[in-house]
Amino acid sequence: MHASFVLLLLYAGLEGWQDDGGWTGMLISVIMVVVFFICVVLHELGHSLTARRYGIRVPRILLMPIGGMAEFERIPRQPSAEFLITIAGPLVNFAIVLVLLPFVGLPPGFPFHPVYEDSIRGLWQMLLYWNGLMGLFNLLPVFPMDGGRIFRALLASRLPYLQATWWAVMVGRVLAIGLILRNLYLENYMLAVLFTFILVAGNAEYQAALRREQEEAYWREMAREAVTVPPATDEPPLILHGPN
Ligand SMILES: [Zn+2]
Repeated sequence: MHASFVLLLLYAGLEGWQDDGGWTGMLISVIMVVVFFICVVLHELGHSLTARRYGIRVPRILLMPIGGMAEFERIPRQPSAEFLITIAGPLVNFAIVLVLLPFVGLPPGFPFHPVYEDSIRGLWQMLLYWNGLMGLFNLLPVFPMDGGRIFRALLASRLPYLQATWWAVMVGRVLAIGLILRNLYLENYMLAVLFTFILVAGNAEYQAALRREQEEAYWREMAREAVTVPPATDEPPLILHGPN
């Protein structure tokens, strides 16, 4: 858990105190943040458990105020593996929606202006709505968000891996810059910061993929030379006749 996460809880508590007056509002507000982040963890577990099936270790899941992140020991090169590992996260959110739906129903004003009644049922509806939103939001094709990874995996099933990454990063970059500007305009600073973070992460991952590709090309070249260097003649190699 990132240290700044504690600040988020304090902030939520304070907001709850001011909005609703007193301890009850504060408690509900803090519980809602905790429940929301439990859903984030479930989303990340969707990725992590699917990754484990492909033999990829996931040393930890990091929780930050802007969301969660499962840290993979490596990103799978195989497009089908990346596709399934990535889609598993949003599918967890949609599964939570489907499980809650028959019990709590949709909030009035759904989907654009949901209104929550001041009750336990209202809180469950809010949770349902958040999960739907979380699933959809993460499917935005802004690499390296889930949608961007799915896009890369789909491209990589037809194009060379690096080229697929380049296209996914380019599309992601254009969308991220658009979303940063739009959220600055709407004064949604949290989202503007989030997309800035995504923009930087996308560039970093492309650079890493590029470096890895160059290293692999280098070693391929070395291996080829190692194989072709010995002359294909019947003469005994001179180098073996040492001083002894
Ligand atoms: Zn995800």
